[in-house]
Amino acid sequence: MNLDRHEALIGGTWVPAGKVIDVDNPATGERIGSGAASDQQLVEDAVVAAAAAQRQWAALSPVQRADQLDNLLAALRARRDALVDITVAEVGVAVNIARPWHIDVALDIIASAAHHARNFDFQQEVGHSLLLRRPAGVVGAITPWNYPFYQLAGKVGSALAAGCTFVHKPAELTPLSAYMFAEATIEAGLPAGVFNLVPGSGQEAGAALAAHPRLDVMSFTGSTAVGSTAGAAAMANLTRVCLELGGKSSSIVCADAQFAAAVRATVDSCMLNSGQSCDAWSRLLVPQERYEEALEIAGAYASSLVVGDPASEETDLGPVITASQRDKIAETVSQAIQRGARVITGGPTREHGNFVTPTVLADLPVTDPASQHEIFGPVLIVHPYRDEDEAIEIANNTAYGLGGSVWAGSTERALAIAGRMNTGQVDLNGADFNVEAPFGGWKQSGIGREFGIEGLLEFTELTSVQR
Ligand code: NAP
Repeated sequence: MNLDRHEALIGGTWVPAGKVIDVDNPATGERIGSGAASDQQLVEDAVVAAAAAQRQWAALSPVQRADQLDNLLAALRARRDALVDITVAEVGVAVNIARPWHIDVALDIIASAAHHARNFDFQQEVGHSLLLRRPAGVVGAITPWNYPFYQLAGKVGSALAAGCTFVHKPAELTPLSAYMFAEATIEAGLPAGVFNLVPGSGQEAGAALAAHPRLDVMSFTGSTAVGSTAGAAAMANLTRVCLELGGKSSSIVCADAQFAAAVRATVDSCMLNSGQSCDAWSRLLVPQERYEEALEIAGAYASSLVVGDPASEETDLGPVITASQRDKIAETVSQAIQRGARVITGGPTREHGNFVTPTVLADLPVTDPASQHEIFGPVLIVHPYRDEDEAIEIANNTAYGLGGSVWAGSTERALAIAGRMNTGQVDLNGADFNVEAPFGGWKQSGIGREFGIEGLLEFTELTSVQR
């Protein structure tokens, strides 16, 4: 694929934008390509194209839409290795993370959407009423840079399965995998206008899309601050919003858990994608009497992780996305140290370029900003707790509610704790990710859910018919 792109995809046609935004490789700092800087007019044209295509797409049966999604999936699978490579290049993520967590799981998510289009009953009997689940209409989707292809897949699979048409604004730092997706939609023969792409800046293309009055659903993934602005712009038109926002998730390790494995798995979650995952378990909560033991295990394991060339299979952590993000992480760690944090490993020093040393901090109060706010870098904060109630209180005591985990001697005990955590997802004892389980946040982590049936329903509207 040509990586020097300058066009938007509108109604099946590549339309040149007047300006471009360069794309840099975060590992080398080198320019690797460009994306269009779509302006308000291109966004307008893309929404009009999506609206024009919507009636015909919605008129297909769900099974016909599933067939089209299967064709799209085949075109994407043929590009699987290229998608991995482009993701490594534009995000800087280690290839052994990109392959399963950026691309393969995203393909599974689209396959799941096709499955639901084929099998979900879009009509439901309730007494003498018939509930019709109908396509919501035109979707505007805005996605972040941290998992660009996966975030797109989470929205577009369900939206298209439900019978919606789609306008996508990827992050300006990482538009290249979205171009590859767009090319696959053309190759797969998706009708013109069903998928439209308007790469560009958040300030211009993102703001124009979020505020567009013709949208029926505005689906946003990104930071809480920007999500609330974009969500408010959509809500001014009474456009429905789905907001997938930031997180500060806790991993509660009980005394009877497989302790060392639980601590190491928490470090892995925190450092995944160089610490740039919304649902990272960035707070480790351990029984007071095992605090020092946990610090030793976490420190030793974090310092054993390989930071380096993301294209190498040996690498655990590539760089963070930009130099400014690297500096922000270093500043956050420095300030935490000034407030009394004990450095177990890592610290504010940087390796080189945009690479950040995995860091474990201890002895901070649970109210410390480093424990309350999303750092979005490879920094784990460890806290001791006195008893189960206190562990749950610490976990719940942030503005967020996105992810979390519980590690205990039995699933029953872990489940009892999970049921008291105010968060959208909790993994018990290292259970696998499930693309059918709804994903989304409580509190400032967002509104709505993606994946599975719940994700599909976000893109439907209800008509109740009494008979
Ligand atoms: P961000 O700065 O909020 O940007 C997200 C998207 O919004 C980008 O495409 C951005 O465009 C666009 N944008 C910026 N200003 C806008 C505006 N005024 N109106 C409309 N759109 C605008 O987030 P990020 O730094 O890319 O991503 C990291 C954040 O995403 C973290 O907080 C992370 O937790 C969160 N996240 C959440 C989930 C979840 O599922 N809950 C998943 C992944 C990430 P540009 O390209 O110009 O920046």
